[in-house]
Amino acid sequence: MNVSDIREKFLAYFESQGATRVPSSSLVPGNDPTLLFTNSGMVQFKDVFLGQDQRPYKRATTAQRCVRAGGKHNDLENVGYTARHHTFFEMLGNFSFGDYFKREAIRYAWELLTRVYKLPAEKLWVTVYAEDDEAHDIWAKEVGVPVERIIRIGDNKGARYASDNFWQMADTGPCGPCSEIFYDHGPEVWGGPPGSPEEDGDRYIEIWNLVFMQFERYAAGEERFDTEDQAKARKAQVEAEGGIGLVSKDGAAYKLAIFRQKPLPKPCVDTGMGLERIAAVLQHVHSNYEIDLFQALIKAAARETATADLGHASLKVIADHIRACAFLIVDGVIPGNEGRGFVLRRIVRRAIRHGYKLGVRQPFFYRLVPDLAEQMGAAYPELAEARNRVADVLQAEEGRFFETIEHGMGMLDAELAALRAAGGNLLPGELAFKLHDTFGFPLDLTQDVCREHGMKVDEEAFDAAMARQREQARAAGKFKMQAALDYVGDKTRFDGYEHLLVKEARVVALYKDGT
Ligand code: ATP
Ligand code: MG
Ligand code: MG
Ligand code: MG
Repeated sequence: MNVSDIREKFLAYFESQGATRVPSSSLVPGNDPTLLFTNSGMVQFKDVFLGQDQRPYKRATTAQRCVRAGGKHNDLENVGYTARHHTFFEMLGNFSFGDYFKREAIRYAWELLTRVYKLPAEKLWVTVYAEDDEAHDIWAKEVGVPVERIIRIGDNKGARYASDNFWQMADTGPCGPCSEIFYDHGPEVWGGPPGSPEEDGDRYIEIWNLVFMQFERYAAGEERFDTEDQAKARKAQVEAEGGIGLVSKDGAAYKLAIFRQKPLPKPCVDTGMGLERIAAVLQHVHSNYEIDLFQALIKAAARETATADLGHASLKVIADHIRACAFLIVDGVIPGNEGRGFVLRRIVRRAIRHGYKLGVRQPFFYRLVPDLAEQMGAAYPELAEARNRVADVLQAEEGRFFETIEHGMGMLDAELAALRAAGGNLLPGELAFKLHDTFGFPLDLTQDVCREHGMKVDEEAFDAAMARQREQARAAGKFKMQAALDYVGDKTRFDGYEHLLVKEARVVALYKDGT
């Protein structure tokens, strides 16, 4: 089964269960200025889940294009290092808006995996939220999964990829337990089942997340305490009663924000399965990069970079990045120095750097667009249509970076060699800043190179150099804060995202100075 067949089987299966097939929405979320990119299937239905929008259907199914390269979900640093992460991927989903719930969602998932895709049941593991006895019993008693392969996962244990199995849209709003399905790729691959100390490995790969939106979480007050211990004691009390307490510092005092939850009158379902991950399973390969679609892109990248070793990690990165870059451009993003455009620019430059590493000295990345259109143009006519524009935008962006990359890489390589000779492992932040400022090396690109050499960038010093330049610009009276403020102005409701906005806004400000 190739990727197209797998996608089609998923959508057709849920259609046969009464779902409406809804097209993928844009990577630029139309309904949420606080979200950088569409990063899951539920984004286009957010307002429906919140009860603020109505659709003529109660069941939907989609293959949603997603990007996780910034914001709360950022998998950019995983690309090329894990078998399962991409910056761009397709999420297959089925959704119930107050219609079917937990029991049916679990049964549908199981039937699709074991009867339609014909996966061996004994290779599948499932997780449920620690307190969700209902889901546990459906899996154990109704579906018949042996209890040894049903794992209860509690709140975040702090492990790198640990999921807390409790989903929430934001601090308040719909939320509920998740149940995830994992596939065991076998003992040849290192890793342990979810919840085990070896879960960071790639043996048990998460393929499908079922979210049961069951509760509505609401703010139920704030209390202040003189000491952290007092706040924590009260938090424990609140949580013993079924509430949630978040402690934060508030001047000299400690604040406890209290949330409580009540059952949603009409529970909903939101699920997401990574198309590339299920394709790897169905094509009997371990890594997503071995599936038909990626092999075609990797071959194209090898052709354009004249690389003989098809297993070279840089080819994987380039194959990953062409998808993200092309689809972002299809959806109207153009490389720039702020917000979404800056993320796109960073991804393009990372791809070019990998091409450079393979010996390429002139624009090559844009030449992969026809190959991508061949692979994905049928499923995404908007890509087929925009292919020439996409190639033009990429070629122009590449031309600019190829003008400076040689000097920048020369400087960086020399510094890394000197560092190694001296036994150091911390690249001076001033140098990273110079690379950024003079040669257009985004910090994450320099960090990516350093990581390959087992080194790190002195980020504090980088930030300080950046701040100094900003000061100078401000002193010179050329500093235009408005663009930055516009960007930070939207009060975000997504955890962790605000931080990103602020960080990028600072970069925006620098570029506004004309440098
Ligand atoms: P992981 O723990 O492997 O990072 P996740 O828990 O972050 O995955 P979810 O947010 O639950 O992923 O997304 C639903 C599904 O989307 C996952 O089960 C997986 O199949 C797929 N998926 C998530 N992130 C990626 C990615 N970066 N590349 C490819 N597929 C992904
Ligand atoms: Mg993840
Ligand atoms: Mg996970
Ligand atoms: Mg998950």
